[in-house]
Amino acid sequence: MELSINSLVIEASRKCNMKCQHCLRGAAQRKTISNHHVRKMLELVDYASSLTIGGGEPTLAMDTLEYIRQCVIYGNCDIGNFFMVTNGKSINVAELADYFARMHMICDDNEISGVPFSFDPYHTETFTWAQKEKRDRNYEKLKETLEYEYGLGENSSGKDYVWKHSNEEMSTRNLKSEGRAKEFGYSDTPVYTFEEDEYGDTVSFNETELYLSSTGQIVAGCNWSYHNIDHKKEIQIAHIDDLNCTDDLIAAIREYNKKNEEVLETV
Ligand code: SF4
Repeated sequence: MELSINSLVIEASRKCNMKCQHCLRGAAQRKTISNHHVRKMLELVDYASSLTIGGGEPTLAMDTLEYIRQCVIYGNCDIGNFFMVTNGKSINVAELADYFARMHMICDDNEISGVPFSFDPYHTETFTWAQKEKRDRNYEKLKETLEYEYGLGENSSGKDYVWKHSNEEMSTRNLKSEGRAKEFGYSDTPVYTFEEDEYGDTVSFNETELYLSSTGQIVAGCNWSYHNIDHKKEIQIAHIDDLNCTDDLIAAIREYNKKNEEVLETV
């Protein structure tokens, strides 16, 4: 069987150079995903409509990001779009622009591809004045570099490849009650199930994200704290070390769906 999914998220690293009050992940950890887990995941999945690289701050793991790119090329996994949010604090603009341009080349859609910068008030208040100025300069410089050096101004839906993620109005209302925002977040993260379609030899799972953590845990959805990713049974699909082939992953997602559809029916 082949596996096609709507959204694949790879948590590149739990390292971070900020301590945002609203961070749904919780405290940063000195963990970066192993190359072995990256390679295996990109061999198990045949197509992802979007690949998101998450964290932590993903740009602190540029070697891992490059390894992910190579696995997409050589590992049989095709991707439609590439998406990665950065806090923009200490990025190497030239390196990130070059990386994004090379990821863009291997995506077959690019309708929602991009590198948005976190501009919500919680990130911004964590910066000193000088750091905020630097983040703002990095943002403008990455936009300009992509547009003028790589011809990547807008994606195929006409949206800039670099934009300000989380504007002031939406950020506070949507805080999840997870991680550092456990006590003051506004909403609990719901448990979702995947919708399934079957076309010949391909199984397609839609709606929620398949999230591979840097600890090797595969969970459903990406709005969870590190603690819940590692310990909350309801959201765990499998540990990647326990899967031998794509059929094992498909079976694990179906088992996850079955377990949670029963739970959701009784809510
Ligand atoms: S919200 Fe992002 S930048 Fe802020 S501490 Fe969490 S992972 Fe780091």
